[in-house]
Amino acid sequence: MITIKSDREIELLRVAGNIVYQTHQYLKQYIKPGITTLELDKLAEDFIKRKGATPSFKGYEGFPGSICTSINEQVVHGIPSNRKLKNGDIISIDIGACYKGYHGDSAWTYEVGTIDDEKKKLLYYTERALFEGLNQIKPDNRIGDISFAIESYAKEHNLGVVKELVGHGVGTNIHEDPDVPNFGKKGTGPKLKKGMVIAVEPMLNLGSSNIVMLDDNWTIETEDYSPSAHFEHTVVVTDDGYEILTGAMHNG
Ligand code: MG
Ligand code: MG
Repeated sequence: MITIKSDREIELLRVAGNIVYQTHQYLKQYIKPGITTLELDKLAEDFIKRKGATPSFKGYEGFPGSICTSINEQVVHGIPSNRKLKNGDIISIDIGACYKGYHGDSAWTYEVGTIDDEKKKLLYYTERALFEGLNQIKPDNRIGDISFAIESYAKEHNLGVVKELVGHGVGTNIHEDPDVPNFGKKGTGPKLKKGMVIAVEPMLNLGSSNIVMLDDNWTIETEDYSPSAHFEHTVVVTDDGYEILTGAMHNG
């Protein structure tokens, strides 16, 4: 069931989203060669708690970390560990925070030190693909319009689109209806309405779109080991477009 959020709920989602945004901004300065993903996890968890929220992913279906840390060919759901970041890596950090029962969800892929041109291209186009999708959001457009915009943009730039994992509604649950796939047909799927809150999150690969799950039953990687990027914002549908809840306060 797709729910329409009240003004009071949207205000709480705005606070949760802003905590996620601030956590990303805080964590950024620590993303350097030598730091472990577990150290990043601890920094994020402490920061989220200081803001009066809790990490949405900790314990979610048994996930052990507070954030997801996915390096290079890892697409999503990387478990924080003692692995150290190296110069030339890329790391996707997915952060969720719950404030007074309402969630925010945003992922970003960061450069570690100096990365090669192929990875630079991947990050640039995946971030742009997110906004290609977001720009379709307004009342009476459909979920498929978002999906189609992301897929076409990714194809135009020869990137593999991960299909098994999708964006989603956000509210009192971190994952709600509707699904927001990163591929699909224009004019299909549920109609967007003012007050709907969704997370849009393209996961694009430098190689094929095929993925595999590791033995830890969490980490998803590309089958061909090509690097993968992930950019995600939680947004609310407004009268004539959308507002980003996980960006700078009151933008979008
Ligand atoms: Mg996320
Ligand atoms: Mg999400």
